[in-house]
Amino acid sequence: LVRLRTRLARSQNSLGKGLLSLLSREHLDEDTWEEIEETLLTADVGVAPTQELVERLRERVKVLGTRTPDELRGLLREELITLLGADLDRTVKTESPEDTPGVVMVVGVNGTGKTTTTGKLARVLVADGKSVVLGAADTFRAAAADQLQTWGERVGARTVRGPEGGDPASIAFDAVKEGIAEKADVVLIDTAGRLHTKTGLMDELGKVKRVVEKHGPLDEVLLVLDATTGQNGLIQARVFAEVVDITGIVLTKLDGTAKGGIVVAVQRELGVPVKLVGLGEGPDDLAPFEPGAFVDALIG
Ligand code: GDP
Repeated sequence: LVRLRTRLARSQNSLGKGLLSLLSREHLDEDTWEEIEETLLTADVGVAPTQELVERLRERVKVLGTRTPDELRGLLREELITLLGADLDRTVKTESPEDTPGVVMVVGVNGTGKTTTTGKLARVLVADGKSVVLGAADTFRAAAADQLQTWGERVGARTVRGPEGGDPASIAFDAVKEGIAEKADVVLIDTAGRLHTKTGLMDELGKVKRVVEKHGPLDEVLLVLDATTGQNGLIQARVFAEVVDITGIVLTKLDGTAKGGIVVAVQRELGVPVKLVGLGEGPDDLAPFEPGAFVDALIG
């Protein structure tokens, strides 16, 4: 939580603090409500959620009458948490219902932080006492397999890889096979995110998925999105959701943007919860997404 606070504080504070100071104005006239709306839109919250939130805030402020700073803070906190989806199940499913390793597939456009996220996630799992096998199925980006293997060596997870430009599906298949043979707890598969054509991506990811499912069901499909790309991220999300059943979102680089509202927008877009957030490039910079802690970091 402390890390989340400091990391977010650097980039996001303006959003929460801005909202709070606008709400604290003595006269909440139309101009102020418009400013509140603009603040939310600028932070990538999205049009519909912004309107809903502003409506709820207006209603509640009216009911409240006179406002103390604490009341306003509490009210804003509650409404932001509701907006972020307080009750969504954000557990990353790393356990298989069968007697086989849990299989997690990590997808997303190259450069969003897929490989880094896979490495960080492996680290969390290993620290949790789990044995992890990594599948380097991103054979498109030349350095991806090396990068993943370095993470694996660092955290203590074996990496299954193939020749450069090799068949991602066959590497994914081998990684799961290896996981089963080693009686590993979890297999994490890093995939390639070529978005040049939708059919290309669909063929490739679809094949990886089908091949992996020969061993058993996929337990989690995490879509990695770069929080700094805003609306572009939403477009990517839409394309991936057409190709595979996304079960969770990882929003990376939240340390580098003031647009934390993208959390709301992307959850709405996919109907899937943000489960993890990336807060930096270091090995410990992956955190579970908790709306309460997130909002506290926002409004300080
Ligand atoms: P991939 O192509 O999707 O596998 O992307 P990489 O995992 O290679 O990450 C691309 C760049 O983003 C690297 O320089 C990472 O260190 C950086 N990166 C990944 N996650 C985060 C994050 O949460 N915050 C920051 N600031 N950088 C990140």
